[in-house]
Amino acid sequence: MAIEHYAVIGAGTMGNGIAHVAALQGRAITLIDVSQEYLDRAVTAIEKNLSRQVKKEIIDQEAADKALSLITPSLSIEDVSGADLIVEAIIERFDVKADLWGRIDAVAGEGAILASNTSSISITRLAALTSAPHRFIGMHFFNPVPMMKLVEVIRGHQTDDETTQTVMAEATALGKTPVEVNDYPGFVANRVLMPMINEAVYALMEGVADAEAIDTVMKLGMAHPMGPLTLADFIGLDVCLDILEVLHNEMGDPKYRPCPLLRKMVAAGHLGRKTGTGFYDYT
Ligand code: NAD
Repeated sequence: MAIEHYAVIGAGTMGNGIAHVAALQGRAITLIDVSQEYLDRAVTAIEKNLSRQVKKEIIDQEAADKALSLITPSLSIEDVSGADLIVEAIIERFDVKADLWGRIDAVAGEGAILASNTSSISITRLAALTSAPHRFIGMHFFNPVPMMKLVEVIRGHQTDDETTQTVMAEATALGKTPVEVNDYPGFVANRVLMPMINEAVYALMEGVADAEAIDTVMKLGMAHPMGPLTLADFIGLDVCLDILEVLHNEMGDPKYRPCPLLRKMVAAGHLGRKTGTGFYDYT
């Protein structure tokens, strides 16, 4: 099945990145969010990111203009109806995603592939809310989407081979490297990454070392391109906490319990780069 038309729902950090890379490959994109302000902000971000790629001579101006012209912002969920591939990238809360998938299911076109960019919520549980769980799949892009090569392709319990093959091929066509994994909490990426970030926060809380020292150890000692606390600030501390809650609740294993310092920082609204303060100060 050829994918020509995407509906991307949620025009935030991930949604605008997914729209950007798919439009650059000539896909028509309907980009949906709940307010005009969010849509305007997303289009501005895409414009800026495309210009950056032009400046770096990764693409030319004509390709940037064409990509932008292929993106149609919308406030109406009914506009998913023409899409071959529907990618949901809204807030990481099961109840909110569940409500949205119920509404998408009522209007999605026959045969459309249903994909969630969730970082940690069960693909099988989301799929079960739709009338086509065999066409439901996880398509987990990484931030920033235009730069990061990986797409974790997550098979739910009922995802069929045709859907998996189509999504693997489409991710490859976007210039990404898809990796097929099965649906267990956190999949592979966050199952391995989040306990490391959480442990770094425990080390900070217990005074083992300061943030810069912890990050330097992991950067220079393990050859990580950025330390775990810098990475947590980049991802968003609220997002990290949400993912750890999923791992903790679904595995029932205390090794995943979120660090109290992480909870306290989220409660204080210190969410990392996006709020100007996290483990580091960005103001
Ligand atoms: P974000 O907060 O930047 O954007 C979410 C967008 O969804 C917002 O614009 C919001 O208005 C919109 N939205 C919320 N409810 C909606 C609804 N019912 N209908 C339409 N739009 C709605 O979030 P994000 O960081 O882009 O994350 C989105 C998803 O991607 C989450 O599931 C997250 O776990 C996952 N993810 C995030 C990252 C990351 O590094 N930020 C990486 C991989 C995956």
